[in-house]
Amino acid sequence: ATFEDLGLDEWLIKQCLSMGITKPSPIQSQCIRPILEGQNCVGCAKTGSGKTAAFALPILQKLSEDRYGPYALVLTPTRELAFQIADQFKVLGKEININVTVITGGMDMVRQGQDLNVKPHIVVSTPGRLADHYESCDTFSFKKIKFLVLDEADRLLEDTGFAEQLQIIFKKLPAKRQTLLFSATMTPAIRELQAASGEKVFSWSQ
Ligand code: AMP
Repeated sequence: ATFEDLGLDEWLIKQCLSMGITKPSPIQSQCIRPILEGQNCVGCAKTGSGKTAAFALPILQKLSEDRYGPYALVLTPTRELAFQIADQFKVLGKEININVTVITGGMDMVRQGQDLNVKPHIVVSTPGRLADHYESCDTFSFKKIKFLVLDEADRLLEDTGFAEQLQIIFKKLPAKRQTLLFSATMTPAIRELQAASGEKVFSWSQ
């Protein structure tokens, strides 16, 4: 398949080309269309498989169609990953001037609170710091979140520290949303979640 076949807009395809991304990777071939169509998605893919673009491209397309609608929250286990994901959103979304904020530990809470209050389109965060903001600050709301992405979900769900923080975050998110889950391995925790939600697995690339 080509990116066009998957339903991606011209401006995103052009942006991919300018980055040397000419054809969809397996995880992208399998996830992009279902995400554009509003489905939830469980993708099995490692770092290097193009999984970030697999969720970033359809989210950016939806965002370009409605700048005040589909906000996205991306949760990932490490600070480094959070910055890498945010960078890909910024580069791929250059054309539409989106506001991407990274919320991770080791940075100023007050400043981050201000960043959240301007209602960024995309928040990329590690669970701990975001849970801190939820507990300490009531002025921002994630009620408009349409996309929840769990990146490296196997690591997120298996770490008990994260599990507690995720519960705090999930409680505040609207029930009506798309959940996109990406994991390098199919662990019992992921399988359970998948069975509970009835989602099919879209890719086992690599
Ligand atoms: P990721 O798996 O998201 O960590 O992506 C790894 C790298 O692959 C990133 O630098 C992307 O820019 C690049 N990439 C993403 N999709 C493709 C693709 N379809 N073809 C070639 N490279 C890609």
